Amino acid sequence: MTRFDIAVIGGGPAGAATAIRAARAGAKVLVVEKGEHGRDKVCGDGLTPRAVAALNELAIPLDDAHRIAGLRMIAGKQVRELPWAREGGRFPTHGAVWPRRRLDAALIDAAAAAGAEVRFGATALPVIDGDGRATGIKVGNDAITADLTVLAAGAPGEAARVLGAERDPREPYGLAIRTYVDSPRHADAHIEACLTVRDERGTWIPGYGWMFPCGDGTVNLGVGALSTMKGFKDLNLNRLLDSYRTLVRDTWGIGPDLERARAWRLPMSAVKRHGPGWVAIGDAAGLINPMNGEGIDYGLESGIVAADRFLADPATAPATYDAEIGERFDGFLRTGRRFAFLIGHPRLMRTGLRFAVGTDRVAAITLQVMGNLVDADTPGAAGHTLRAADRLLALADPALRATRARA
Ligand SMILES: Cc1cc2nc3c(=O)[nH]c(=O)nc-3n(C[C@H](O)[C@H](O)[C@H](O)COP(=O)(O)OP(=O)(O)OC[C@H]3O[C@@H](n4cnc5c(N)ncnc54)[C@H](O)[C@@H]3O)c2cc1C
Repeated sequence: MTRFDIAVIGGGPAGAATAIRAARAGAKVLVVEKGEHGRDKVCGDGLTPRAVAALNELAIPLDDAHRIAGLRMIAGKQVRELPWAREGGRFPTHGAVWPRRRLDAALIDAAAAAGAEVRFGATALPVIDGDGRATGIKVGNDAITADLTVLAAGAPGEAARVLGAERDPREPYGLAIRTYVDSPRHADAHIEACLTVRDERGTWIPGYGWMFPCGDGTVNLGVGALSTMKGFKDLNLNRLLDSYRTLVRDTWGIGPDLERARAWRLPMSAVKRHGPGWVAIGDAAGLINPMNGEGIDYGLESGIVAADRFLADPATAPATYDAEIGERFDGFLRTGRRFAFLIGHPRLMRTGLRFAVGTDRVAAITLQVMGNLVDADTPGAAGHTLRAADRLLALADPALRATRARA
């Protein structure tokens, strides 16, 4: 039996952030990762200014990432190029694209350099005692005790089931697919999102197609959709990707796919994110923004919060972690989930889109709100818009859910 202060299940951005933060402060940390070192994660590889801020907080150099100045939003014939964020705000004014194979390796290497023990190629499951308390993890025949068990295993699987931390079946979730292609525009300064993608039946997708330039000769090309759309169960992501690829082939001068397109889930809720002796962070806690599908920033931030709460007081860490995450994200993510039901109605989505990208000023506010670059107490147009949207969506929510299209 081996003893650690913190045992982390999963070595993605969230788990690595906890390990970096806690190990640097002297805690004895173990991270168990199912994949091998340098494993890939199906992702768009886009880092928001919020994610860049979290990487800065962890002192992770971004030299290996491709710097991004803003977003090109496309809706039908409308094209708007917008800077990521305002000067003088809480977040940096740039984002980045950093292929996950390299980003995740940089993070887990930083955790190891800080003194965390990292075991690759091993699967861990939480261990619960007779009182329902997580006492550590089991890795094969190895029993490991820990004062705090951190579930950082991404989209819910066996480890989440043991803790009862699965996705809330009443809430929306996302599915997305991506590949990489060569393109002469691989070093563009803007990421691109096309908000008017349709499936093979012509149904508007609540989601978007993306071209995220990696700066290394390649572009991450993908498309994602929310479960609130009509016919979601029958949605063929490969065909959706084919039709989006056709749309961008000429403007991006893309070559054939460099690897087989792969899809993965985007959980946007969790029935529980803490309990005696454990916390869930990142995707395992359902911390993905339903308005744009990004979760790396929340993974990093929640990983940092989990470590900080543990370092402050191990006994109260699960409860204080849950409270801090609730304060920081719950309101916004609830608004985002309501928004997901709204755009699941194609007519409402079309009307909303026309307004949202109608002028540069409104589109800039849309970007700030959707990128979660405003806080509840942010003054100015974006802050007002978020609060107004929150109130309106709260009123409309029961009707939107009741009239939800059949999946
Ligand atoms: C197609 C797609 C595109 C996306 N694009 C973006 C984007 O551009 N920007 C953005 O911010 N977000 C994006 N996201 C979301 C983003 O990928 C996630 O929010 C992010 O990876 C969450 O990090 P995490 O550490 O919580 O989980 P993960 O990155 O999923 O890491 C979890 C790790 O746990 C390991 N694991 C699982 N179970 C066990 C176990 N029992 N034992 C040991 N190890 C285990 C897994 O192997 C994995 O390495 C996208 C998601 C998808 C599907």
